[in-house]
Amino acid sequence: MRHLRKTLLANLKSRFVLMETARRIVQFFFLILLNSAIFGLSIIPLVLPILLSSGLPFRIAGEAISVLQKMIYDSLFPLLPLASVLLFGVLTGRALCGWICPMGLIQDILAVDKTKKFTISPEAHRSYIGLKYFILGLILLISTSLFLAQFSREGRVYRETLGLFAQAPFNPLNPSDTLFAVLPRLLSNLSISLYIGFEHLNITPLLIVRLIILIALLFLAAYVPRVWCRYLCPQGALLALVSRFSLLGLRRDIVRCIRVGCRLCEEKCPMKVPILKLPREKITDPECVYCLRCVAACPTKAIKPVFP
Ligand code: SF4
Ligand code: SF4
Repeated sequence: MRHLRKTLLANLKSRFVLMETARRIVQFFFLILLNSAIFGLSIIPLVLPILLSSGLPFRIAGEAISVLQKMIYDSLFPLLPLASVLLFGVLTGRALCGWICPMGLIQDILAVDKTKKFTISPEAHRSYIGLKYFILGLILLISTSLFLAQFSREGRVYRETLGLFAQAPFNPLNPSDTLFAVLPRLLSNLSISLYIGFEHLNITPLLIVRLIILIALLFLAAYVPRVWCRYLCPQGALLALVSRFSLLGLRRDIVRCIRVGCRLCEEKCPMKVPILKLPREKITDPECVYCLRCVAACPTKAIKPVFP
């Protein structure tokens, strides 16, 4: 009996590792593909609802949240980014968050050490989730109020007051931009400064704030899996509004689910989705990023992805 249990656990572990390795390969593949202008690939007219970092010089696709803000600023109806959110959200929920978004990949890598974990109570978790919708609301409020103000005499003053935050209020603080575009540029400038002197180095207060946000976030991500995606990402919030209606979902087979004393699926979920409390026929929770960790963790294979 003991031997059987040991073999079962070993099989389960190898299945889990295999699935996670496959996901990591896909995430790395898309990180390279989406930045493949470096290999001469031209920009494609595709807007994705993930954080791609608008400052990346080798990016070949657009990111919905940036395009949305810029189109509102230019007094255009943001049809393209909204269509992207709707299309991907309805078809695949937040699967792009789980499998493609570079910011998601970084957090997954940082959370790999299982000994480092902060415990967040379910009540605190539920209230923190609202933060990302608040941030999204704030971004939309600034963008649309500036759009409306442009029709009045105060428009110019308002725009000047917003300064760097006028065109795309989220972008100057976007940690994905800081990590993938600002930080490499800063490091390259630093290495040049070693030879020509530091007086050319432009360290602004905004840059310091950006770096503080990034460091805090990376530190937290090592202790709270997907902390940015769970609680703060406005792009994730936008997609979450649609993903509850997604064709892609998860199904939990109650005949196979041993439930009592198990909870392995919930324990492995980086987004803290209360899987066992959700309707078993189809789970399309707005927080689910379809990483399939719960599928791989289940010892009785009770959870399966379903479409539609
Ligand atoms: S929630 Fe935001 S950062 Fe996280 S994976 Fe989705 S788009 Fe990327
Ligand atoms: S419910 Fe499953 S697929 Fe969804 S985020 Fe959690 S572990 Fe991943």
